[in-house]
Amino acid sequence: ETIGAALDRTVAAHPDREALVDLPAGRRWTYRELATEVDRVAAGLLALGVGCGDRVGIWAPNRAEWVFVQYATARIGAVLVTVNPGYRVHELEYVLGQSGIRTVIAAPSFKTSDYAAMLAEAGPRCPDLKDVLLLGSDAWHDLLAAGDRLDRGRLAELGAALHPDDPINIQYTSGTTGFPKGATLSHRNILNNGYFVGELCGYSELDRICVPVPFYHCFGMVMGNLAALAHGACVVIPAAAFDPAATLRAVAAERCTSLYGVPTMFIAELNDAGFAEHDLSSLRTGIMAGSPCPTEVMKQVVERMGMRDVSICYGMTETSPVSTQTRAEDPLERRVSTVGRVGPHLQVKVVDPGTGEVVPRGTPGELCTRGYSVMLGYWDQADRTAEVIDADGWMHSGDLAVMDEEGYLNITGRIKDMVIRGGENVYPREIEEFLYTHPDILDAQVIGVPDAKYGEELMAWIRLRPGAAELTADTLREFCTGRIAHYKIPRYVHLVDEFPMTVTGKIRKVEMREEAVALLG
Ligand code: ATP
Ligand code: MG
Repeated sequence: ETIGAALDRTVAAHPDREALVDLPAGRRWTYRELATEVDRVAAGLLALGVGCGDRVGIWAPNRAEWVFVQYATARIGAVLVTVNPGYRVHELEYVLGQSGIRTVIAAPSFKTSDYAAMLAEAGPRCPDLKDVLLLGSDAWHDLLAAGDRLDRGRLAELGAALHPDDPINIQYTSGTTGFPKGATLSHRNILNNGYFVGELCGYSELDRICVPVPFYHCFGMVMGNLAALAHGACVVIPAAAFDPAATLRAVAAERCTSLYGVPTMFIAELNDAGFAEHDLSSLRTGIMAGSPCPTEVMKQVVERMGMRDVSICYGMTETSPVSTQTRAEDPLERRVSTVGRVGPHLQVKVVDPGTGEVVPRGTPGELCTRGYSVMLGYWDQADRTAEVIDADGWMHSGDLAVMDEEGYLNITGRIKDMVIRGGENVYPREIEEFLYTHPDILDAQVIGVPDAKYGEELMAWIRLRPGAAELTADTLREFCTGRIAHYKIPRYVHLVDEFPMTVTGKIRKVEMREEAVALLG
């Protein structure tokens, strides 16, 4: 099935159920109304000359039009390129050029970013770029008007000619470990993934999903929008960019049953000054994903937010994204401390990164995924694709994982983040989990820094709870001594207010390491 066909099916099944709520805009759409907007945009793009396979960029924070464009491009077989709202002109130019965007639809500006000015600057240097449409501008209204004039029969004809294996999306990875790569994904890849993620969350047309994670990323567009579409559920946009108070308000006001976030978002919500004022009793489930999910935070999400069925998902853009997920029926202990078991119709294995052989259960190795969700490839980068997808179709994640006897997985970190201290492999994740048990520590991240004697030494970056006493390397060492092995005790402590982050809310350890090196002189 294609995404357009899925939309038709949901509209037929639940025409009058709410599909989308854009709280900042103060507007809401039923599935029937959503389909009307989608068809206007789709027809408008056709009238503009956008054809099957052409790349259409969307550059905007979360708002309803983002969703219209997502489904409109899918309807006509154009390839939607989701542009990170945090990009500056240099990165914009890279993405426009690398994916050969023909038409870009953008918000005029966002926060301190003047998108219109950046597009005006980068545009002339991108030969494929024909149209720039700013949301709300005359050009945008002209497009909608042209869409209204077009015979809708053409949309149906076009839709019938599309194939589920056609590329429909280029999503750039978060850029946590370097320059983002454009994962090319098909209808089959992402629609199935959204469907199964929603299935494991137990979604139906009665669910209302609060989505504060960005749409430009698979977490928002697949696990949010497509999971909702596949099950007739509703997506609630609490704010254009993440705001803990607005998110809590949205859950309460819209009686959301599900809430998404990366761990740092849940930490911010749980620690929000107004937390206790919001009625979160409608919440049943939700998803934490994107980076290591601390057990302590998971427990609080269950206990204080009432998300008793909450899932942890693990995945990556290249696998549409979800590979493993915890299920509501899993024992609570497993649900707060593992990333669950392999998803339906997928295979995972843990291999020795050196030899490629499967390692015994309980031994760390590289996690690999195979099945319907593996991307078509990196856009126009066959060599990089060949580095990660092997001849048997396994996607090599670059993540270290341990699988237990029952198939539950634990992510122990990225291969690139593993620290080798005096010949000993140290997994920062394990130390971070331990540091969370310190009463004064709000959030902790551990990195390796170069060291003349041991090769690498450990440095803990710590965010203290408001009002907590100062913490020094010595007091932290005292806390750790006797509780974790001596070689895992951080040598340096760096107190910070925030960690360097990607727009998807992931902590950029690459940047932390650079800063640490500068700090240590
Ligand atoms: P880039 O590939 O550009 O460096 P990225 O890998 O962060 O960035 P994404 O595709 O957005 O880009 O993220 C996938 C990665 O996120 C995974 O490879 C993994 O390292 C991490 N991740 C996702 N979910 C989890 C989870 N539940 N626990 C631990 N890590 C996770
Ligand atoms: Mg990656």
